[in-house]
Amino acid sequence: MIVVMRAGAEKAEVDAVCSLIRAEGLEAFVSEGQERVIIGVVGIDIDRVAHVGTMPGVEQAIRVTSPHKLASLEHQRDRTRITVKGIPIGAGAPLVVMAGPCSVESPEMLFETANLVKREGGHVLRGGAYKPRTSPYAFQGLGEDGLKLLAEARAQTGLPIVSEMTDASQMEAFEEYVDIIQIGSRNMHNFTLLRAAGQGRTPVLLKRGFGATIDEWLMAAEYVLSAGNANVILCERGIRTFERATRNTLDLSAVPVLREMTHLPVVVDPSHGTGKRSLVASMSLGAAAVGADGVIIEVHPDPPHAWSDGDQSLSFPEFAALMDELRRSEYLRRGDSGRPRTVSVPATIGEMRERIDTIDSHLLGLVDERAQLALGIARAKGTDDHGHDAAREHSLLERARATQGAVLDGEELEQVMSAVLRASRQMQRRHAAEQRDSVRTPA
Ligand code: PEP
Ligand code: MN
Repeated sequence: MIVVMRAGAEKAEVDAVCSLIRAEGLEAFVSEGQERVIIGVVGIDIDRVAHVGTMPGVEQAIRVTSPHKLASLEHQRDRTRITVKGIPIGAGAPLVVMAGPCSVESPEMLFETANLVKREGGHVLRGGAYKPRTSPYAFQGLGEDGLKLLAEARAQTGLPIVSEMTDASQMEAFEEYVDIIQIGSRNMHNFTLLRAAGQGRTPVLLKRGFGATIDEWLMAAEYVLSAGNANVILCERGIRTFERATRNTLDLSAVPVLREMTHLPVVVDPSHGTGKRSLVASMSLGAAAVGADGVIIEVHPDPPHAWSDGDQSLSFPEFAALMDELRRSEYLRRGDSGRPRTVSVPATIGEMRERIDTIDSHLLGLVDERAQLALGIARAKGTDDHGHDAAREHSLLERARATQGAVLDGEELEQVMSAVLRASRQMQRRHAAEQRDSVRTPA
């Protein structure tokens, strides 16, 4: 049941409702919205307190049909935003990129990866210290030593860390070392573990069980929420279907579906979701396009030799290219408000050429996009020459000249922009001439 208090209800009235609920052996979760207080009532035989609807300060008591009460939008209309070491996640905050190796293997590889993630503009460092592997013979992780290394990587880079907890007995160490506790797909139904994570206040990244429906997943979230921890982030990581082309079937529709059901932030894991390095970038962009609050991506300095999940881990240049792509699509906003960004230069000439080729094809596309819009303006103005506005052109060139890039200076940037403008004017004159010709020689 959800008890909606009147706007401006007194604190004493809220307390009286909570006391009555608790006196009946039920639990009351108070959530203070912008305008009014809402109290979620959880427990068995809730109808016993149906009369709270008539108490002072109460607007109405609504019987919730959704089985996941605390996670539901009925309980909380405002979307939850969780802030981890100053990074906002959810409720319309910019896309958050969590990235790092599948497993922490050694200090060197972890620190190297952490620095790369930081340099490329990632927000959270991931890394498994306790690995729930399908085979008991596979690498099981470095355990608490791995957590300590993660904490050291955080000290070096300032990136908060997310790591998977596999047993309730690890809770103390996780509260000490990590910023987000991951509950893995294989443990989504481990109710003891969920309750343990619910006892603390450290945010929980709850992965979807690979055989779980969205309802079951939300019920798992309900375990954490009802134990008292309101900081739950859901993570879609693919489900098992008949399809074998990918390791799992990444259910991107879960993102908009969850939007209609819950206020909790939703993150997508395209690495486990596809199992293939070549698919990670497109599914990351897809996740951002359908409204995910973040992505969590596996990156490794040497994917073919990774101790776990090498096939789906991005190399450093691949991760850097994906970050560029996310920024280009404006899913990632620049934290440094337009100041030029120092890119990481890949190790080999081949890799550098590959990045340059990608950038060049983006540039060609962007210049053409810009030209189409400029032509649109010329047509709207009905001009029979180019439609450029001299004052706007002038201020663009001035802005370019005033920009000091990491390697290009203002004069060089101005040359680039003036070439773009020149080509654009020429294109518009050509279209205007064609237009005039077609009017003169009707078909
Ligand atoms: C992981 O993130 O390393 C992991 C094991 O993921 P999942 O639980 O989704 O398989
Ligand atoms: Mn993994």
